[in-house]
Amino acid sequence: MYDLIIIGAGPSGLTSALYALRANKKVLILEENIYGGQIVNAANIENYPGILSISGYEFATNLYEQVKSLKAEIKYEKVLKVEEDKHVITNKNTYQAKAIIIATGSKNRKLNIPKEEKLIGKGVSYCATCDGNFYKDKIVAVVGGGNTALEDCLYLSNLASKVYLIHRRETFKGDRKYLEEVKSKKNIELVLNQTIISLNGNNKLESITLNNNEVLAIDGLFIAIGQEPHNDIFSNIVDLDDNGYIKTYNDVETKTKGIYAVGDTRVKSLRQLTTAISDGSLAATLAIKEMEN
Ligand code: NAP
Repeated sequence: MYDLIIIGAGPSGLTSALYALRANKKVLILEENIYGGQIVNAANIENYPGILSISGYEFATNLYEQVKSLKAEIKYEKVLKVEEDKHVITNKNTYQAKAIIIATGSKNRKLNIPKEEKLIGKGVSYCATCDGNFYKDKIVAVVGGGNTALEDCLYLSNLASKVYLIHRRETFKGDRKYLEEVKSKKNIELVLNQTIISLNGNNKLESITLNNNEVLAIDGLFIAIGQEPHNDIFSNIVDLDDNGYIKTYNDVETKTKGIYAVGDTRVKSLRQLTTAISDGSLAATLAIKEMEN
């Protein structure tokens, strides 16, 4: 029996672990893929108080090492179900805890157009920092209007010969600072008020067609249109909103006593590293208080 099981090893989950381990609790972290969550893809974090600039990968690795140094138990298993009595069933085992923190973040949103799945790794990517290197001196496009899309454009403009930034409106969600930088780059071309209606090419992406029927010949397409949660497996123990985010009460408590939700996966007004860290520390503190009462 664990004191606490944390599902997800992104910034919020690892922060919960840090607080619980420092309180001498027996903690298990379950992670489906690799540690760090979405932040590992951020080229530079410059809005985390007290840190001038750090890459997302370095931030996540520091946090992971900090938690590992406290002898955290981390298992790479996929959670299939969580019971109200706090049994956690994975693809390999069943575990039990006194409290559970859901920190599953969100996954890349898809364009949901034909051939998108088929061309992943063959010209379609969701991660510029992971795959950008394959497009040295080639022509690429980025779709999206948030900070991820703007950062991806800047990153790719140093590798590719040309970068199209395709956005479905004229105004951007991303920071003005990044947008100004994007506009100042000679090899980035803004394509506004357009959506992608088709991906062309069979075994490899060759071009894209826009909704004005223009065809752009490109070698790579980076899809950066935000994230969405995948919380269906928790629907027996939490309430979900219309977009699939977990509803929380009194900050980070779910409708089930002893089960908390933190970070990007819950309903909240600001999804940032700072708020993920805040959620993680709060949930661990509440869980510890509850089990010591
Ligand atoms: P985001 O801010 O949610 O932006 C998503 C963008 O994709 C929006 O411009 C949206 O268009 C567009 N979009 C959504 N669905 C689309 C579709 N089906 N087709 C075409 N376009 C679509 O997502 P994000 O850029 O990934 O950022 C997520 C969070 O991480 C934000 O809070 C961001 O500030 C943060 N972040 C921070 C940094 C940093 O600080 N360095 C770096 C990356 C991300 P509309 O504008 O029309 O809705």
